[in-house]
Amino acid sequence: MEHVKCLIIGSGPAGFTAAIYASRANLDPVLYEGIEPGGQLTTTTEIENFPGYPEGIDGSAMMNDLRRQAARFGADIRSGIVTEADLSSRPFRLKIDGGKEIAAETLIVATGATARYLGLPSETKYRGMGVSACATCDGFFYRKQDVAVVGGGDTACEEATYLASICRHVYMIVRKPFLRASKAMQERVFATPNIEVLFEHNTVEVLGDDDGVTGALLRRNDGEERTIDITGFFLAIGHHPNTDLFKGQLELDDEGYIKVAGATSKTNVEGVFAAGDVKDPQYRQAITAAGSGCIAAIDCERFLLAQK
Ligand code: NDP
Repeated sequence: MEHVKCLIIGSGPAGFTAAIYASRANLDPVLYEGIEPGGQLTTTTEIENFPGYPEGIDGSAMMNDLRRQAARFGADIRSGIVTEADLSSRPFRLKIDGGKEIAAETLIVATGATARYLGLPSETKYRGMGVSACATCDGFFYRKQDVAVVGGGDTACEEATYLASICRHVYMIVRKPFLRASKAMQERVFATPNIEVLFEHNTVEVLGDDDGVTGALLRRNDGEERTIDITGFFLAIGHHPNTDLFKGQLELDDEGYIKVAGATSKTNVEGVFAAGDVKDPQYRQAITAAGSGCIAAIDCERFLLAQK
């Protein structure tokens, strides 16, 4: 069985930053990229708030830069998904893609979070046929058509604004009488003439036929129902932390995020550290994820030093 000093799971800003620091500290890290190589930022367009890019940068391009930087210092970056984890004793035992086993002295969990869906049967039925949780990935298919985005946070505003640049009309379906997004994002939405915000509306069903989505049945909070004609239905209602692998082993909060000790990356299992969105329900920014990846690598290095 392969034995590694430091195993990193996840390839978003947290995982790659941890890999940069861990390789520079001679921990010879092995990083498994997981289900979504490059993480959530590969599904976004322009990143304008990551320091060091005064003109902004494309999400995938930025993740490529981080990947190359980690590789430059010798991080062993592999494609593959960790499918099992036994954290009951050290070295921890992990299974990759249901087969290969690895023994790891330490583990940095940077598995991120995944988009949430409303849970409607019709939404599942039309997933990939008009229903999507990533406007920047799929918006192009709905060029010059009418679409809807569900949610009132920064993601929803960002996606609605992006869709408005390629689609004819964009409805925002918002369950509250206000947007939760930052003021700058809200202003952008309200200044975009082809975005129509439907406050206090919920989706009852996604409507469709054999070719995919044709509309959505909405209910206003006062009970009034209406149908909108759309071909694309985009979810932007938040995320679910990718911690299923660690249930019963790592201490999680009520929403499933990994609990860490104070400002450190230390989990309840010695030698296991968490970084990025998987432990952060609050800030969830690329820069905070990168910062926490750095913290995890330093915690990991100090832990290994103390074992000697
Ligand atoms: P948020 O949790 O901020 O917002 C989720 C939105 O979806 C809210 O409007 C919420 O409504 C709504 N919602 C949740 N569940 C349902 C449901 N079942 N039915 C209808 N609506 C629902 O998630 P985001 O993904 O927007 O943002 C996550 C974090 O990432 C935030 O901290 C955000 O600031 C940050 N972010 C920053 C960006 C940037 O700076 N460029 C870009 C994107 C995200 P309600 O308000 O009623 O709870």
